[in-house]
Amino acid sequence: YEAKTEGTERYAFFDVELRDRVQRNMVLEQDLRHAVAQDQLWVAYQPVVDLRTEGTVAVEGLLRWNHPTDGTVPPDVFIPLAEETELINPIGAHMLRMATRQLAAERRRHDIDLRLNANLSPRQLGDPHLRSVVRHALAESGLPAGALCLEVTENAIMHDPERAARVLHELRELGVYLAIDDFGTGYASLSQLRRLPLDTLKIDRSFVTDLGDSHDLRVIVTSIVAMSHAIGLDVVAEGVETPQQLELLRDFGCDHVQGFYLGKPVPVAELFAGHRDR
Ligand code: C2E
Ligand code: CA
Ligand code: CA
Ligand code: CA
Repeated sequence: YEAKTEGTERYAFFDVELRDRVQRNMVLEQDLRHAVAQDQLWVAYQPVVDLRTEGTVAVEGLLRWNHPTDGTVPPDVFIPLAEETELINPIGAHMLRMATRQLAAERRRHDIDLRLNANLSPRQLGDPHLRSVVRHALAESGLPAGALCLEVTENAIMHDPERAARVLHELRELGVYLAIDDFGTGYASLSQLRRLPLDTLKIDRSFVTDLGDSHDLRVIVTSIVAMSHAIGLDVVAEGVETPQQLELLRDFGCDHVQGFYLGKPVPVAELFAGHRDR
């Protein structure tokens, strides 16, 4: 928008940049069509830690794409592309199958009760096959429904609240848990969420990052935790990077924490590296 006052050269610059980005996305999108079949997608897992026991209670599965020439393409780039093109449905189904299979195997190998969190995109919520995709992933892997928590963003829900409510109730009937992701970045209010069959609320990283510097943020997070508990939701704080943030969140009564301070997303083989079996 600034460019308007800066003459035509800037326009030309932006045009080239835009054109390059569009072309690059078209190439990536073509490549993404083959990513599942060519087995280029894999799942990294990040621990979710219980603040009371300090044990890992769950892991969030986060998709990674090993592009044959570009190296690792981050999900912030390819998930939106997949979302625009409906590729998200086969990719999301593939993700669920991989992650449930790997988690079920880890649970057996270490004899632990570790839950899996998996992200659903807005378009997946609109997929009429979603319910059977989830059911099949569970049946095939042997992961109990109660060990799976599906995360949906506020925006995915607000896009079509009635449909979201219907779909969430259907998923809930399978016995899985449901979480609202990135809370605070969209327009959902807690009173709207109250009517949905949710179990967990994840406070977006943007609230946690500046917690130490902002009295206002501390007040906001304290009240999100209190209100969530009042309507029966567990609270996870995302993006915890420092021990100070961890202590504040503990004081606020937050239930679970997730972030680089507790553990970065890692391949399944590294999840228990350096840990003894419990
Ligand atoms: P998200 O669901 O909010 O996942 C959390 C993101 O925050 C992850 O980024 C994680 O690596 C990052 N993160 C965790 N702790 C910290 C921290 O302490 N500091 C910082 N700076 N970052 C932290 P990632 O893996 O790059 O994923 C980005 C987004 O891509 C996810 O955000 C999610 O929206 C989407 N995504 C990833 N995997 C999937 C998937 O399987 N399906 C769908 N639909 N979306 C996915
Ligand atoms: Ca998430
Ligand atoms: Ca999140
Ligand atoms: Ca996020």
